[in-house]
Amino acid sequence: MRRSQRRIALLALSTLVGSILVTTGPAGADPTGSSAAASRSQPEDRESVRLVHVRLTGADMLDKVAAAGFDLEHGLRRVPNGIEGEAVVTAEQATELTAMGVELLGDDAGFAWSNEADGGIGIGAASARAAQPASHDATVRVVRADWFTTKGQGFLYVEARTTEGQQADPIVGMQLENDSGKGTPFGFARTMSRFVDSGQYMFHRNLFKLDVRPNKIKLTSSTGGVATGVVSNWLEDAPPPLTANPSYKSDFVDGYRHPQQLYSRAMEIARQYPDIAEIVYLPNQTNGYQRKAQAQIGGTGQAAVVVTSAAWGHQGGNDITVDFVDRPDANLPLAVEVTGKAVRVLLATDASGAPTSTAAEVAEALRTRSAGLIDRAHPYRTNEGTGIVAPTAGPVALTDFLDQKRVGAPEGEVPRGPATIPVLRIGKHRDGKKPGVLIQAQDHAREWVPATTSLESAERLVHNYRSDRETKKIVENTDVFFILSNNPDGANYSFYNFASQRKNMTNHCPDASADPAQRNSWGVDLNRNYRVGSGHDGYAGGSTNCVSGTYQGPGELSEPESKNIIWLVEKYKNIKFMMSVHSNGGQLFWQPGAYIADGRITTPRPPLGDEAFYWQSAARILSQVKAHRETVVTPENVGGSSDVLYSSAGNVREDLYHTYGIYAFGWEVGGSVYNPATGDWQGGSFQPEWDGNPELVSGHAETMEYANGIMEMFRVAADWGRDNKNPTSQLVPGAGRYSGPVDVHFETSEPATIYYTTDGSRPTLQSPRYAATEFREPGQVFHVTETTTFRWFSVDSAGNIEKNYDPTKNDKRNNYRTATIKIAKR
Ligand SMILES: [Zn+2]
Repeated sequence: MRRSQRRIALLALSTLVGSILVTTGPAGADPTGSSAAASRSQPEDRESVRLVHVRLTGADMLDKVAAAGFDLEHGLRRVPNGIEGEAVVTAEQATELTAMGVELLGDDAGFAWSNEADGGIGIGAASARAAQPASHDATVRVVRADWFTTKGQGFLYVEARTTEGQQADPIVGMQLENDSGKGTPFGFARTMSRFVDSGQYMFHRNLFKLDVRPNKIKLTSSTGGVATGVVSNWLEDAPPPLTANPSYKSDFVDGYRHPQQLYSRAMEIARQYPDIAEIVYLPNQTNGYQRKAQAQIGGTGQAAVVVTSAAWGHQGGNDITVDFVDRPDANLPLAVEVTGKAVRVLLATDASGAPTSTAAEVAEALRTRSAGLIDRAHPYRTNEGTGIVAPTAGPVALTDFLDQKRVGAPEGEVPRGPATIPVLRIGKHRDGKKPGVLIQAQDHAREWVPATTSLESAERLVHNYRSDRETKKIVENTDVFFILSNNPDGANYSFYNFASQRKNMTNHCPDASADPAQRNSWGVDLNRNYRVGSGHDGYAGGSTNCVSGTYQGPGELSEPESKNIIWLVEKYKNIKFMMSVHSNGGQLFWQPGAYIADGRITTPRPPLGDEAFYWQSAARILSQVKAHRETVVTPENVGGSSDVLYSSAGNVREDLYHTYGIYAFGWEVGGSVYNPATGDWQGGSFQPEWDGNPELVSGHAETMEYANGIMEMFRVAADWGRDNKNPTSQLVPGAGRYSGPVDVHFETSEPATIYYTTDGSRPTLQSPRYAATEFREPGQVFHVTETTTFRWFSVDSAGNIEKNYDPTKNDKRNNYRTATIKIAKR
């Protein structure tokens, strides 16, 4: 790829960001505050758990609930009064959730926005960004005002801030009015909802149903602040999707695919299309779809012994039997006999011949005297094992429970043991010179649609390469890496044993959580196992509890699956884009994605140029998703994930963006489609019926619409790779003589970050960055009261620098921009 000499590597920018990260690091706070060994009732199998719809007051409560071990993740959605989502729980857990303050909304409730607005009358009008008043005297600012339509219904989404938003007594309210088209009066007043997270006021926001597109909105705070803004279009102006071309081939995937099917198809594609595809094997094998064989023997509570084989179940552990034998004679010592795989524990007796061995004594004897067959035996959970064990009726067989298939599991044997993950690499020029795009699906095992979405995208690339011009351009100008399932062990467990499995299969639990009844809760949340903004560094949303749904692992990158991702992006340094594909919820995320709860300190915000590039890319990607069947990912579900939803410590996106300068997206495909029949937004599920209602929740429809989005992400990357056009920028209003103080701001010709000085010095990459007024808002406004000279340059998302200025060298040209604002002396 030919690069302009003045194009700087993104890494330079992110290194800068990284250094800021260090200075904002926490002092080892534990955000969860939970003890690792806390044991709780865990769902034993699929039949005893149910999905309930819940409402939490905010991310604080979400952290507490997750830290306590509840499986509450994905399908989460911000609502005006908190977060709604779905929890996989037993009846007992549902009661515990209620005790923690979580509101249970029922088993099958759709998401409903209560603040529906009146419709207006009038005509549509052109769009523009919301107008911004100067910040120094504003008490209300418009953050976003977006119009979109879906399935024949119009919606207005508004975010706005009051500078008094944090004030608690009295709380400052806000009212929204809108017109009904250009030149019509404001009306339809209604109250906005205040969005508070981790004790911090974020903004006010609401989604309103409207029948007519407004041109302008007006916000009034209860303390008299007023702001008006122009309404923009959201995903309304999409070009036709690739699928609009009649010769374009799509709809290749006709059902869910387990990891073996995904991988074998990936390898087949590489064989069928050797000129544009190959397999890259990830170096770290997974820890395996395998378990040690176990049994709980001797009684319950203090009398129970939890026995675990030294060998994996399929490597002999499942052949072990353990027998607690009662002998009639008096005053016998505890003994262990081992014959082949049969372990006989001969219980000690007292003077009357009654058994006297306690659970703790038997456990110790099994650990040390079973000829190496048993290497882990301990009392049940937190008990000390003081109870006398009961003799067994005969030999008890140990089992890894993996042969207990769930109802509806696919046919065939699942290979036991570690897996090697193949990466399907597609691109005409796989020489490291084209921008690489990493599509990583199914970090979370139960998320089946991300895998089919990714496979469908790969199929579209190879099948349309020769016949479709746009696809050919993608294949010739990008280097795509598909990881169709990054958690094959967990995914096999989800397909064959426990459908709700989220994490991998690695059991890091201490004895207190290691009994077989807790097996469905073991494993590491792979998307909490990375190094930037991690739970180990005190960020919120990762749990230290090994049975929590968001268990972060014993250390950063402790798991082979996360090590592999780092290996891949370090080996293929051309990877500049990444999509971590999850389900379900209808959200598209980037940074920041994690914060320290105390003070709500986020990981560093992307510079304004990256933020604008993310928004621009998101609009392109989501427009193509919408083009399939009008599914709209709404603007309140787009942005830095910790700004709009919750903190997820140690997620992959933070690491790839901050360490490697990779534009790292995460999305929640599926769910949250508008149902015109009920007038509500309907949430989805992890494994929607493949051929479900094609207008609502259907694995097939979700696969097809989100594959559209992945294809557009490739086009974003291809455009980025070919972008050698320098950005331009200006100060508005520009240089000149002003009779009094003046408000100025910067504008750029494309998403770009501005570095500027006002002290006469030459601008460099260390100079102040032009920032947003506040997060999710446009650029800041400078209130200039005395004569000031601005010196600046802009850098676009591809690293091109305005006027080819070189900020890294002290060259004589001083080819940066300059403008003097002269303020007349009074
Ligand atoms: Zn997920």
